[in-house]
Amino acid sequence: MRSVIDKSLLRELPKVDEIMKHHRIARLLEIHPRPVVVDGVRGALDFYRKAILNGHYTGNPEELNELVLEKSLALVAAETRFNLRRVINATGVVLHTNLGRALLSKSARHAVDAVTSAYCNLEINLDTGKRGSRYEPVEELLTRLTGAEAALVVNNNASAVLLALGTLARGKEVIVSRGQLVEIGGSFRIPEVMEQSGATLVEVGATNKTHPADYRKGITENTALLLHVHTSNYRIVGFTRETSVEELVEIGRESGIPVMSDLGSGFLVDLARYGLPKEPSVQETVAAGADVVTFSGDKLLGGPQAGIIVGKRQYIEKMKKNPLTRAVRINKFTVAALEATLREYFDHDNVLNKIPTLRMLTESTDVILQRAGELAAKLKSKLTAGVEVKIVQGSSQVGGGSMPTAELPTYLVSCVTESLSVDELAIQLRGAEPAVVARVQDGQYQLDLRTVQAEEVDLLAEVMAGVLNSAEVSRL
Ligand SMILES: *Cc1c(COP(=O)(O)O)cnc(C)c1O
Repeated sequence: MRSVIDKSLLRELPKVDEIMKHHRIARLLEIHPRPVVVDGVRGALDFYRKAILNGHYTGNPEELNELVLEKSLALVAAETRFNLRRVINATGVVLHTNLGRALLSKSARHAVDAVTSAYCNLEINLDTGKRGSRYEPVEELLTRLTGAEAALVVNNNASAVLLALGTLARGKEVIVSRGQLVEIGGSFRIPEVMEQSGATLVEVGATNKTHPADYRKGITENTALLLHVHTSNYRIVGFTRETSVEELVEIGRESGIPVMSDLGSGFLVDLARYGLPKEPSVQETVAAGADVVTFSGDKLLGGPQAGIIVGKRQYIEKMKKNPLTRAVRINKFTVAALEATLREYFDHDNVLNKIPTLRMLTESTDVILQRAGELAAKLKSKLTAGVEVKIVQGSSQVGGGSMPTAELPTYLVSCVTESLSVDELAIQLRGAEPAVVARVQDGQYQLDLRTVQAEEVDLLAEVMAGVLNSAEVSRL
């Protein structure tokens, strides 16, 4: 290593203007603003000026031009890279909350584009020319699909629960089973939401068993609501007894107290036929007599982030008048995407194909295996030696705190390379463009093809080959 500081090297550094004339910089200027590119070039020159003055630069003088250019490109790329970026989800977790949960259907994406690239009738009734409601486009669809009298949509299900409790039980008591005091990721806990809403939680029963008699004993003149929470992200198994929504409705009728069911991952299509656990649908819960039912728009429904509230008109109308509704109101992207998603449900024969979440959850293992084979073949044709690629069996998850015990059989492409540890491979692929997130399991890097879209296979192979081949080169 050269340790003498050779200041004469500074004279070899190119000028900003010279680098700006390079054809690779010209290409950057077509997509990025000039000041950003100039800043990148200045940053690169600064970097090498310091390296020379510290005596850290050990290369040849004639390499400097090329190095400054490469550094400039890298700095501009880092500066202009979006913070929120596309990810290829190879985890096999269909509703991956950290990866944005549900993918929108094609028609939902088009609907968002249509109402955001032009003005829309968000709050105007085009027949009368008078003020309209932003909820109208989805209200009627929701009541038709669920059988409920009325509907309201807010930002997410957490706010739906908060709004319902705050409207129906503020300053009063709400009875909940001890077995249903759920915590959902991101610190949404039923007791805490209850406190925020101004309602008082009355816990009844035991963790594993709550009988109808426990609810009856808990009722006082201050009871405003009987709350049933679907324990969507865990199961209590063994010696158990849960009081059903039907039973709660019966108790509610005896005492004139409304019943609310927080379904969490509410769905409209029964997936039990496809090997998924039998769970109560929104329609079944409404038919069971629940007065208020809340569920997420971006869990099993497969739409945009939203909190959907359906139920008896008198309760929904009261919620609409609560000032909190204004604070948690949905925007036009949500209305557009939700309307399009709901419309897919009227096409019974095609809904499973049209809504990506439902398609991924019901995808046959044959189709997944075929996609795995395609990825493995593409990888093998692109990769230099030293990488072992094979197909293994495993299981995917529903995710989003839904159906935690469901194990969906799947096929994974497993990669092991001598040039990178599996953890390093995972880091490099997360930093790639687009980012790839998969599983590190059994000392292998495993890609679950259930959540990789058919049209992503080529791109995924290309990104992986880029990372694996450059690791191989730097090892040699
Ligand atoms: C997921 C979930 C929520 C929160 O829904 P978000 O749409 O994520 O706000 C509330 N309750 C239950 C039971 C859930 O599963």
